[in-house]
Amino acid sequence: MKKAGNMNEEKNYQSIEVILAEQDVPWANDLIGIFQRHLSKRCQIQWGHHSTASLLVELALEPGIGVEGFRIEEVSSGCIRIVGNDKLGLRYGIGKFLRTSRYLQDRFIPSPWRGTSVPARKVRGIYFATHFHNFYHDAPIDQVREYLEELSLWGYNALNIWFDMHHYQGIDDPEARVMIERLKLLLGTAKQTGFNIGFAILANESFADSPIELRADQTFPGTRHVRGGYGLELCPSKPAGRELILKNIQWEFAVFSDLKIDFLWIWPYDQGGCGCEKCRPWGGNAFLRIAEEEAALARKFWPEVKIYLSTWLFDCVKPEGEWEGLHALLEKNPDWVGGVIADSHTDFPHYPLEHDLPENYPLLNFPEISMWGMNPWGTFGANPAPLRFERLWNQAKDKLQGGFPYSEGIFEDINKVVVSRFYWGDVPWQETLREYIAYEFSPHVVEDVIMAIKIMEQNQSRQWMGDSQTHDAYFYMKRAEASLSSKARTSWRWRILFLRSRIERELLSNHGKPTENCRPWFEELTEIYHARNAQECVKPIQMKYGNRD
Ligand SMILES: [Zn+2]
Repeated sequence: MKKAGNMNEEKNYQSIEVILAEQDVPWANDLIGIFQRHLSKRCQIQWGHHSTASLLVELALEPGIGVEGFRIEEVSSGCIRIVGNDKLGLRYGIGKFLRTSRYLQDRFIPSPWRGTSVPARKVRGIYFATHFHNFYHDAPIDQVREYLEELSLWGYNALNIWFDMHHYQGIDDPEARVMIERLKLLLGTAKQTGFNIGFAILANESFADSPIELRADQTFPGTRHVRGGYGLELCPSKPAGRELILKNIQWEFAVFSDLKIDFLWIWPYDQGGCGCEKCRPWGGNAFLRIAEEEAALARKFWPEVKIYLSTWLFDCVKPEGEWEGLHALLEKNPDWVGGVIADSHTDFPHYPLEHDLPENYPLLNFPEISMWGMNPWGTFGANPAPLRFERLWNQAKDKLQGGFPYSEGIFEDINKVVVSRFYWGDVPWQETLREYIAYEFSPHVVEDVIMAIKIMEQNQSRQWMGDSQTHDAYFYMKRAEASLSSKARTSWRWRILFLRSRIERELLSNHGKPTENCRPWFEELTEIYHARNAQECVKPIQMKYGNRD
């Protein structure tokens, strides 16, 4: 569906004029703003028609390309048209054009990319884990919105968030209200972008003040090391526990009710679940019962809302009848279920690969791009693992209609981008990273940075216990840095990747332990993540140091 040409490759421009083919589309002005803002960040260009040497970029809409697809074409010498099938398609076309253009100090070489591109999968969402005082919880809201905009240019089309009740002392806690307002701003921004929006609930979650006698049994014999919760969750098999779960959830639905929510996720575990006699096996038993009641409640607020049941940590250590319980329910064709979410900390779960679930319940994945192989998450900088995510994608892609990567911050930016392109059209990670590196850093450093990323991924899985065979990612990063513009060199994306290589070298030379040299780097990462007040799991500055032997 796409092809690249070489027209215009060498021709550069000092001024650009962007026009709309259709003036009566109110939101299209936002897209002009996005185009100008992102381009201006990369080079000092003049805007408007200054001479015949100006480039003319025309933005247009043309249904028929394919849902959320776009086309980039050359109208004449010095005039390029970006055509979207629809609002999002035009946005993705702008993203592609920006990423494949080249930027000099005060000049611009327009993208040589020509052709049509239409996303293969319908659901290309991102899940922001809005808690633990991580980036999404504590960074200035405009920065989070800007980040969302950047992700949208890669092809994402849905945002999911979580109001994590455990942080708050009940419905009337003023802090809960502050967080709700923040989440609504984020969801509102996503909605305005054209995204589908929704939020997650844990089927039996609770505020911090939950009555002890109503709490869930979270002993989960033999599986406690992977499951469990905050210890505040409620047991829905206790009548007053069920009542309180529904009361809290109803309150939450009511505070979000002025937004048009498209989907709701109901989550079983981690945190969550109850292992009491009446509830177990949770995922195939009480979870499904309480989820049905929660779904009915959600429908009162949003009659069209699509309910996704998550299967996270179902049968995670041994078969306990959780997947079978869900499968049996789906065979009855329940109209309250809209789809199923599956994934795991390691390989994709076997059950949905080996059994065909009824096909009217689309299956989405939930790649864990944040926590694997680094603790606290993001502490040593960026955690790119493109080979890992390609391997996991290949296990399940034939069954998936898309998904939502699980994100605890911005340190996994590269993983997000790689996964977004799997959803778009099985784009190999190398192709994605070439585009990313050329756009964010420089076309001249693509090969060095890819080498560095491959080494970083290998070392991450080895827990930084390097040996003499370990190649030095820092060498490639240092060499690449020498040819970067000061803007690229000081950007947060470069700093978190560069610091990762720098910290990694220290770890490898010290049996995996940070040295005192790492202290300022942990400080800098903490600033970039806005994680000064974060909980331990996402806070670099709390690291302990060990002297080099
Ligand atoms: Zn129970």
